[in-house]
Amino acid sequence: MSRQNDGRVVIIGAGPTGAMLAIELARLGVEVRILDKQPARSQETRAIGIHARTLEVFLQLGLVDEFLRLGHKATGMAVHTHARRSTRVDFGGIDSPYPFMLTLGQDQTQRILDQRLEQLGVTIERGVEILNLDQHAYGVELATRRVGEQLDQTLQAAWVVGCDGAHSVVRRHLEAAFDGDDYGQDWLMAEVDIDWQIERERFHVFSYTPAPMVAFPLPGDRWRVFMPQVPNRAGERQAPEIGEIQRIAATRGPATMRLANPTLLAAFRCYRRQTTVMRRGRLMVAGDAAHIHSPAGGQGMNTGLHDAANLAWKLALVVGGAPAALLDTYQDERVPIAAGVLEFTHNLVRIFSVTSPSKRWLRDRLLPIAMSVPAAERRYTTRLSQISHTYRGGPLAPASRRSMRKSIAPGDRLPSVSGLVGGGKPLSTLDLLGSTTHTLLVLSGRGNHQQAVQKTIARMARFNGNVQIVPVLATDATQRAPAITDATRHAQAITDPHLRAHRRYHALRGALLLVRPDGYLARRAPLSRPDIPEQYLHQLTAWRGEAEKPSRGGGEDPVPAPAQGDKRWNKQGADDERVDQDAGGPLGAVEGELLARHSRREVRVIQTFLDDLASAIAKHRPQTVATQQQAGNSQSGAAPTRATRHRRAG
Ligand SMILES: Cc1cc2nc3c(=O)[nH]c(=O)nc-3n(C[C@H](O)[C@H](O)[C@H](O)COP(=O)(O)OP(=O)(O)OC[C@H]3O[C@@H](n4cnc5c(N)ncnc54)[C@H](O)[C@@H]3O)c2cc1C
Repeated sequence: MSRQNDGRVVIIGAGPTGAMLAIELARLGVEVRILDKQPARSQETRAIGIHARTLEVFLQLGLVDEFLRLGHKATGMAVHTHARRSTRVDFGGIDSPYPFMLTLGQDQTQRILDQRLEQLGVTIERGVEILNLDQHAYGVELATRRVGEQLDQTLQAAWVVGCDGAHSVVRRHLEAAFDGDDYGQDWLMAEVDIDWQIERERFHVFSYTPAPMVAFPLPGDRWRVFMPQVPNRAGERQAPEIGEIQRIAATRGPATMRLANPTLLAAFRCYRRQTTVMRRGRLMVAGDAAHIHSPAGGQGMNTGLHDAANLAWKLALVVGGAPAALLDTYQDERVPIAAGVLEFTHNLVRIFSVTSPSKRWLRDRLLPIAMSVPAAERRYTTRLSQISHTYRGGPLAPASRRSMRKSIAPGDRLPSVSGLVGGGKPLSTLDLLGSTTHTLLVLSGRGNHQQAVQKTIARMARFNGNVQIVPVLATDATQRAPAITDATRHAQAITDPHLRAHRRYHALRGALLLVRPDGYLARRAPLSRPDIPEQYLHQLTAWRGEAEKPSRGGGEDPVPAPAQGDKRWNKQGADDERVDQDAGGPLGAVEGELLARHSRREVRVIQTFLDDLASAIAKHRPQTVATQQQAGNSQSGAAPTRATRHRRAG
């Protein structure tokens, strides 16, 4: 066995999750290596849906323009049933600069991420398979083999992140269950032309039969169609022919719809599985290695990308000397999110594969009514777009009774607000966030309390490097006080002339908003309480400070604490909720909005239906039109590779 150079962090798997994590770590200055057993980048177009929250992250990586240039915007969804009225959902209400779902093949997403990584000086080491791992006190030893060669090599790493997909080697070493189930039947998908009058601004669910068909518009006038729950296929799960796709489309969709010119035909199996252990010692998993979903709602890749964004800044701090227990917060924050995504995608599958004719009759009539209620539509679209994901109540954002009532509390993603001005240019708050550091937004309040702003900035100056401080003044640019500029040698002054940010963040009396590098609110406090963000930041700088002390073991990291969590974090933040003006969140508004439009009796019928549907769903197992249960096949993963026919367009 030969020995290679050490890598500080080694990422196994260069799919979207691994590439994203490598990009984030490289931007944070962490020495990173990324290996993949495939000799070349995958050309599979599996994931096509990119949601609003992911586009916000891409903005911070400087990639969003390319995605928007290449992708197709789906601004809504339509559900077609036998009922006279179809269900229409609009994404326009998503509280993001990107109120739509962008469709773009995963091969393109992967190419854009890989190129960014290359620009950052990191080259993916392809054709290198990790065969085994051995975790010890000061690092991890990886047994690797270059594909096609016989000689095994050993690689040393301080930290290893398994972004190695559904069959993860790293997950096996976490000794964690990958609990879940499959959907009992095979699924088909195809990328085709559709010859039928069909709105390209929406994706369409055709739910005329117990098993649906879903069509997503793609760039270049193309469509991706999914046909869940077809009879199980023989042997190696053979890819379909276009004739078979056309026959199923004629049964499940409008009879006159014609599908032609396939560039992709695939059969795959769908699973829902999750591990509740995402870290053990020096090993972590992210993306499909930790959770796999049905493609309903297009959530899998998006969720993996956000695992990476959550982990990167924490891992960078730990590599810099912070106690390894900070990494436990990665698991504590992401496991519930993945569980929620699994539940969401599972419910989508179940709702659209109800077999009971009476329940389908009711569903088809009540769904359009329920989804015409703005609050219900908002709840669905904010979940789909992943902007509602929150770490409230988690280890870094302990909940108080007061914070649970707030519409923007620690743990929540900071919603972007436009209408700000900086350096004569229009800006949004998303533009102000430093994705490699924490950002402290100092909102001066309607009264433009400049003295308080100056005091806070002066006091916070000692955190320079660990936090970027951005004063947001409730004044227009011409009135900007020179005094502020003097006091903010390190800060850029931004104005909020129409008080949009102040109002949206309930900060008319002034507020301090400390935002994490991944865009989630760490702390909020009144302008008069800089000690609250300070306390949180002290923790970070104390941790960074430890990096400067001589380390043990010849420069190796000290032994990480076992995955028990650093409870020091949990004590913080109990009193960080004094900004008093706030509006209630949208929760609970559904019933109110229904009552505004329907009689109490109608609302009772709708609610009974929704309750019934939920309990039917809880008992229901989706079935195929021609039910044919496949035995065995306990392998996880939804990789369609073996049964895929690809023909690139043109
Ligand atoms: C049909 C279909 C449609 C989908 N549509 C969507 C969608 O619209 N939106 C969405 O968000 N998600 C969607 N998904 C899910 C999405 O494709 C996955 O969630 C995503 O690919 C996961 O990315 P990943 O990087 O975590 O894992 P993967 O993409 O599986 O990458 C894992 C990488 O690890 C490498 N690897 C594995 N083992 C080793 C080893 N031992 N040594 C070295 N390298 C190794 C592999 O070669 C691979 O490159 C869909 C999935 C399917 C099947």
